[in-house]
Amino acid sequence: MVVAPKIRGFICTTAHPEGCAKHVAEQIAVVKSRGPIANGPKKVLVIGSSTGYGLASRIAAAFGSNAATVGVFFERASEGDRTATAGWYNSAAFEREAAAAGLYARSFNGDAFSDAMKSEVIAAIKKDLGQVDCVIYSLASPRRTHPKTGEVLKSVLKPIGESYTNKNLNTGNGVVNEITIDPANEDEIAQTVAVMGGEDWEMWMEALASANVLAPGVQTLAYSYIGPVLTWPIYKNGTIGQAKLDLERAQKALDQKLAPLGGKAWISVNKALVTQASSAIPVVPLYISLLYKIMKAAGSHEECIEQMDRLFRDRLCSGNPHPDEAGRIRLDDWEMAESVQNLISERWDSVTTENFAELADFAGYQANFLKLFGFGLEGVDYSADTDVAVSIPSIS
Ligand code: NAD
Repeated sequence: MVVAPKIRGFICTTAHPEGCAKHVAEQIAVVKSRGPIANGPKKVLVIGSSTGYGLASRIAAAFGSNAATVGVFFERASEGDRTATAGWYNSAAFEREAAAAGLYARSFNGDAFSDAMKSEVIAAIKKDLGQVDCVIYSLASPRRTHPKTGEVLKSVLKPIGESYTNKNLNTGNGVVNEITIDPANEDEIAQTVAVMGGEDWEMWMEALASANVLAPGVQTLAYSYIGPVLTWPIYKNGTIGQAKLDLERAQKALDQKLAPLGGKAWISVNKALVTQASSAIPVVPLYISLLYKIMKAAGSHEECIEQMDRLFRDRLCSGNPHPDEAGRIRLDDWEMAESVQNLISERWDSVTTENFAELADFAGYQANFLKLFGFGLEGVDYSADTDVAVSIPSIS
């Protein structure tokens, strides 16, 4: 069938198999063009490995450092005329590319928050790899079923304390409007922390350690975001920011637990980029559109793959990760550069629907959004029939 994008709000309900494969191939090419990553990890578990930062982490580890990778994600296969999700096609393409390069790759589709998924992944690691030397935690989820209580917890993107009003972008039509978001109540804050905070990362590491599948010197990373003051009420000081604080708490606890193994836990603060998760955050798409224009003009723009390549190559495996005063790896350094942020503040104050096209890179935002679902890739014939039933070699 011919597959076209069907956009509903901040999600595209279709995905293009060849387009997603091309997107994965492009990311592999970026890593390969930079040459091998010295001292890179060799056996890597990526939790949340099918899209965004997790997929880029898996690609950078595999194709930069020849790592065997185990990936965990929650995606949907195709059903009749209904396409699979982009993360499904990405993972299928990744496995095919890994096999062609002689690299071990195994994937697990299901709920990473569950005890069952942890057991299944651990059994596979034991059987196939013995141990892993790197664990990436890159989940972004709107909900979590707690494995011990069975409670279904939901994360919300809300300010705390008082309502927040700011400029906002209607990503469907490029209209710059205003949005007011009411503050979260205590229960919403707690639930967001339970979904996006550090408890599940700790549960994974605990389970992996008890099963003795963590190699000496293992490194584990979870991803965070800080961003500029203008988004702080909805991000850093909002419900998601509380979850990220909890992730930092977990990092410190894990760091201590891994010390006897010579291991280390890290928080990597990454750049704001268009992903399925970030498109759902109010205000952020307007910020990203302004940011892309400025960083592209400055020659410092990166996508997920350049960020994750830099993470392994220049930070994690270089012997000097340049941690900040709080011990975090900062890949948002170029985003947060004073020259970039000064321009953002100026343009934020003056941006309107009328001058938006001139001040921001909306075309870049939209192109990136479509690319997440495999659309707009060069060399893909979107008018041709494509088979939407694609299997992931290690799953089917
Ligand atoms: P994403 O939506 O692209 O990826 C989320 C991943 O989690 C996917 O692989 C998805 O399948 C998986 N997932 C979700 N729920 C799951 C479940 N229950 N079980 C198994 N897998 C599940 O998101 P992203 O933007 O790459 O975010 C990853 C991390 O990076 C998050 O912690 C996010 O806060 C952080 N981060 C994102 C940005 C950004 O701008 N996008 C910036 C800095 C940090």
